[in-house]
Amino acid sequence: MSPPSLIDHHPNLTDAAPVALSYELFPPRSPAAAESLWNTIRELETTDPDYVAVTYGASGSNRDTALELVHRLVQETTLRPLAHLTCVGNTPQELAEIIGELLDTGVRGILALRGDQPKDGAQPAAGSLAYAQDLIDLIRRVEQRRSALLCAGKIAVGVAAYPTKHPESPSEEHDIEVLLAKQRSGADFAITQVFFHSEQYADLVTRARRAGVTIPIIPGVMPLTSLRRVIRLAELAGVEPAPELLERLAAADNDAERLRIGVRATVDLANAALEAGAPGIHLYTFNEHQSALEVLDKLALPRHSRSASRRSAIARRQLAS
Ligand code: FAD
Repeated sequence: MSPPSLIDHHPNLTDAAPVALSYELFPPRSPAAAESLWNTIRELETTDPDYVAVTYGASGSNRDTALELVHRLVQETTLRPLAHLTCVGNTPQELAEIIGELLDTGVRGILALRGDQPKDGAQPAAGSLAYAQDLIDLIRRVEQRRSALLCAGKIAVGVAAYPTKHPESPSEEHDIEVLLAKQRSGADFAITQVFFHSEQYADLVTRARRAGVTIPIIPGVMPLTSLRRVIRLAELAGVEPAPELLERLAAADNDAERLRIGVRATVDLANAALEAGAPGIHLYTFNEHQSALEVLDKLALPRHSRSASRRSAIARRQLAS
């Protein structure tokens, strides 16, 4: 028997792994929305998340505002952006250029997505990338060409995972095969679509692990405080909201009551995912911080403590803004 390795006894390896915290933001659609978003960004920054995801319109329509937001996050905050990119609405050449631009800006995390197909049934241009898997391949090719500039580093590539069947997919088994294929193409981690039933995350992880998926699968949870938003998102994502939550939100008399109900339901979902071994919590914020911060407050995540220099960098940024 070999002697126990010193490495195995290092506190960084023997303690429970810290849980990652991330938020999702979308690019603002007006100057007023931008002002409110930056207020939210400053509030979220105080919680020192591990990264902040910035969505990308599947039509490529918000390409400029998305890239500008990512750029400003790098330049003006202590936050690390995870830039979403979609195959739909972009040629491979455009995507390769955007990936290069992101790397030049200092971005080291990309969420590779296919994007939703246009509702008008328009067919993708000849030569377009068909699946998220193709975008991962492209990101890895751009990365390889620039490996010297990246100090031989690596881009962290994330992908989408689905606790309930993707609307276009023939089965949940097929979704797992796709996730495995994305892992084989070089995905480093996955973030889940929203889900409303506590057992769905654990079930996804069990099925994925059984099939050979080893990458971290991070549950995406949305603060369930708005009836209208829950219904809209459920429709968009093709997921069934919990009827009892809808009833309770509909019966609530005022915003404070809806906030209380929604935060409790979200905390319960997130806690169920953490009990199932979730390596992080990804909060869909809808560019609002109040409910996200309340969820975070009640979750009491076991997070790692950042260095004093990082904490003072946040304080300096806040004094300056
Ligand atoms: P894929 O993994 O390519 O899958 C798309 C469909 O094709 C699925 O039905 C899959 O089963 C099937 N498929 C995949 N590969 C193959 C294959 N090799 N052979 C046969 N079938 C295959 N959308 C946006 O527009 N912008 C965003 O910023 C955005 N952010 C998101 C963030 C998260 C965390 C999630 C979960 C979703 C996000 N979406 C976003 C939505 C996403 O673009 C849609 O769900 C889209 O319909 C599928 O994207 P995907 O990356 O999962 O695609």
